Amino acid sequence: MRSSLIGKIEKAKRYAQEPGRVTLSSFTADFHGDNANHVISYAEGKWQCGCDFFSQWGICSHSMALQQMLAGMLPKEALASAMEPQSEEKVTVLREISREQAKQEVQQLFWSRRTLYYSDIAKELRLDLELVVDICRELEENGEVKVDESAL
Ligand SMILES: [Zn+2]
Repeated sequence: MRSSLIGKIEKAKRYAQEPGRVTLSSFTADFHGDNANHVISYAEGKWQCGCDFFSQWGICSHSMALQQMLAGMLPKEALASAMEPQSEEKVTVLREISREQAKQEVQQLFWSRRTLYYSDIAKELRLDLELVVDICRELEENGEVKVDESAL
């Protein structure tokens, strides 16, 4: 009895040196970030993290950090899936609308908010960033909006 337990302890020591023997199929963890704690999980081939960045990109500093920490113990798809920059449906398709139409929408956006960054406008309206900058400049010249030059 005693000798067989000693055998197990020996074996456990050896196993512990070989993390590749373990593949995590799912887990949930509390990640203590610099600014806040985030619940991050991995299950059925998918990462989930409670942080804002993840909701937009499907990847974040927390998921990437865990990929590195657990490299030897994660299944291949856990390393691959989160390394794609963003999932397909998140890719922004720019809209083809007339400049006049775009100008109206940009203007409306300015009426509804206080601070707008060019990149926010472009993302929200799904317009080309250059076009947005151009339109904002024009609106500013007409005195219709105020553009903060540091906002690019
Ligand atoms: Zn995160």
